[in-house]
Amino acid sequence: MDFLPFTRPSIDEDTIADVADVLRSGWITSGPRVAAFEAALSGYFGGRPVRVVNSGTGALEIALRLINLQPGDEVITTPLTWVATVNVILHAGGKPVLVDIDPVTRNIDLDAVEAAITPRTRAILPVDLAGLPVDRDRLYTIAEKHGLRVLEDAAQSQGSTWQGRKIGSFGDLCSISFHANKNMTTTEGGALVLNNAEEARLFEKWRLQGVTRFADGTMDVELPGGKYNLTDVAAAIGLGQLKHIDAFNARRKVLAQRYFGQIDPAWGLALPVWSDDSNWHMFQPLLPLDRLSIGRPEFLARMKEHGIGIGVHYPALHLFSYFRGLGYRESMYPHAEAVGASTISLPLFPAMHDTDIDRVCTALASVLQGALR
Ligand SMILES: *Cc1c(COP(=O)(O)O)cnc(C)c1O
Repeated sequence: MDFLPFTRPSIDEDTIADVADVLRSGWITSGPRVAAFEAALSGYFGGRPVRVVNSGTGALEIALRLINLQPGDEVITTPLTWVATVNVILHAGGKPVLVDIDPVTRNIDLDAVEAAITPRTRAILPVDLAGLPVDRDRLYTIAEKHGLRVLEDAAQSQGSTWQGRKIGSFGDLCSISFHANKNMTTTEGGALVLNNAEEARLFEKWRLQGVTRFADGTMDVELPGGKYNLTDVAAAIGLGQLKHIDAFNARRKVLAQRYFGQIDPAWGLALPVWSDDSNWHMFQPLLPLDRLSIGRPEFLARMKEHGIGIGVHYPALHLFSYFRGLGYRESMYPHAEAVGASTISLPLFPAMHDTDIDRVCTALASVLQGALR
């Protein structure tokens, strides 16, 4: 039987043909496909301006430029995320202020956010882990009360909703990733949803060497921008993917529901909370490590023997060497540490068959029942 990876992109033949057209066109870097992709994304996000870049990390980096983060400015975020979320704050010279997660949603604890606000706080950087949205009502109530910017790291939550409204269609800055593992991809890429045309123009300068070009063929450089532009090759993939994102997410939801129906409580897994608002970017139970005779690495190895790929997203990041070097230690964020130590990502991607879920569950039953004490 084929190996079942934890995720795999779905690229249709029309998209592959359009990529070939771009390659034959003579213009393969940023051009008409990028413009079309940005226009289509703007439509997707309720008409707000959207600009694309070559990674989600790049979108976050430029967003921190836009809010004019100064050295020493504090940005409140979560220790349970992909390290990009925190690296970008350090990269911009800011000070990440980590607060623990809510053990139920596994997203940043908004009570802890409010308690961590100081006169140096400039922004909140929440992450919708696995696609489950952070409570936007409470988030923006806190931000408005304290005069803070919000940079939503929605890398994992494209297509998720909050009370019927699409994430990114309201609120402050919202960053998306089109990495190959995300709900839609451009191979690598990202986007920022912005508030107005002025922010979009500033974004364009930071995106490409600070350059502004004028109609008469002259140019000026007004700030020391970077090199973040997306190619038309990638944008062609994005245009093809955007047509399917709603169907992809609907399929993910059905597959997630099937996991809920098939996972036997006797196996001891702690399931994620069900949410109709989630795009089900990942399906992440927690292993009952205190009841198992094996650790997570051995569990992963045994599932692999059954032909099943399992991901780990993510160990609590403050326990990585670099962050320990900054003074972070065990037991500072107990909920993030507990989830980070026991989380597993089961296979979940739109091309999966219902029977693939059954296959994963059969393997889970065998591996877990054989290891429960
Ligand atoms: C994927 C991801 C990013 C970074 O996106 P890239 O496109 O890989 O740079 C940032 N934050 C979170 C939560 C992510 O999942």
